[in-house]
Amino acid sequence: MTSIVVLGSTNMDLVAYVARAPARGETVTGREFRTVPGGKGANQAVAAARAGAEVSMIGAVGTDDFGVRLRAALDGAGVDTDLLRTAEGPSGTAHIVVDDEGGNAIVVIPGANGAVTALTHGDEALIGNADALLLQLELPLSVVTEGARTARRLGVRTILTPAPAKPLPPELVAATDLLVPNEHEAAALTGVTDPYAAAEALLRVVPEVVITLGARGSLYASREAPPVTVSAPRVTAVDTTAAGDTFVGALAVALGEGRPVPGALAWASVAAALSVQRPGASTSMPYRSEIDMETNSRMDAL
Ligand code: ATP
Repeated sequence: MTSIVVLGSTNMDLVAYVARAPARGETVTGREFRTVPGGKGANQAVAAARAGAEVSMIGAVGTDDFGVRLRAALDGAGVDTDLLRTAEGPSGTAHIVVDDEGGNAIVVIPGANGAVTALTHGDEALIGNADALLLQLELPLSVVTEGARTARRLGVRTILTPAPAKPLPPELVAATDLLVPNEHEAAALTGVTDPYAAAEALLRVVPEVVITLGARGSLYASREAPPVTVSAPRVTAVDTTAAGDTFVGALAVALGEGRPVPGALAWASVAAALSVQRPGASTSMPYRSEIDMETNSRMDAL
C-alpha cells in the first residue's frame, strides 16, 4: 500500500452563510453557521486516505475543544495521528463568510499550526519510510522547508501545493520534486497568467509541475517531455471547496502506486470531479472504490 506523510495544517473552518458579506463597520444577519474540520494539510491527508493510501499527519492541534474534534476527524478518516502534536493554546481556525453568489472572504488564524517549528527524530523516521511527503504553506515556512529537505535527503518524493500563495524560499523550491499550484498561484509565483508560460517558468526551478485549471482540468509539464493537458470530467459542480486538495491527495496515491503520469492525472481528475458534485470539503472527498468505478465507466463510454 502506498504510504504518504502530510506535513501540514489543521484548521477548524467556521463558516457563516450570508446573502451578502458585510462592508466595514456593518452588521448583517446570516442564515446559517457551520463548524467543519479542515486545513489544507488535513484535507489532503483525508483525500489520500480515502483514495487508498496509508497516511500519517505531522502538524498540531490546540488544547481547545476544536483540537479534540480536529484530531478525531483525522482518526475517523483512518489517518495516523500519532505524530500530530497538541500545542498549548487555540487550534488553527479559518473564519469564512460565504455569500449567496458563492463568493467567500476568509481570515485564517494559524493558532497551533504556528507551533510546528521543527521536526523530531520520529517525524524524520516516518518521512523516510514514505513514498511521498505532501506539503502546503499553512505551517511556518521554516518547517515546510525542513520537511522538504529531509524528504529529499531520504530519497522521498516531495509534492508541494504553494497555497496560500506567497514567495517561496529558494531552499524549499530546490527540494521540491512536483509543484502543484492552481492557475492563480502559478501566476503569483511567475508573474505570467498564461499557464503554459507559467509552467515553463516554473520548470526552471522544479523538475515537474501540475497546474490545476478548475473545470478546465490540469496541465502537466516536466523537463523531459512536452506539456500535456488533462481535461476535467464535465460535471455539475455544487461546491468546489477543497477540489484542489482532493486532486493532490489522489494524485499522490496514484503516483505512489507507480502509475504513469497521464493515468495518474486522469484518476485524480475523476476524484476531484466527484468531490465538486457534493457539498463540503473533506465530507465531499470520494473513496477509492468510487474513483475506480467512475474511471472504469468513463473508459467504457469511450
Ligand atoms: P480549491 O481551492 O477549491 O481547493 P483549487 O483552486 O486549488 O481548488 P482548482 O484548479 O479549482 O484548484 O481545481 C482542482 C482540480 O479539481 C481541477 O484541476 C479539476 O480536475 C477539478 N475541478 C475543479 N473544479 C471542477 C469542476 N467544476 N468540474 C470538474 N472538475 C473540477
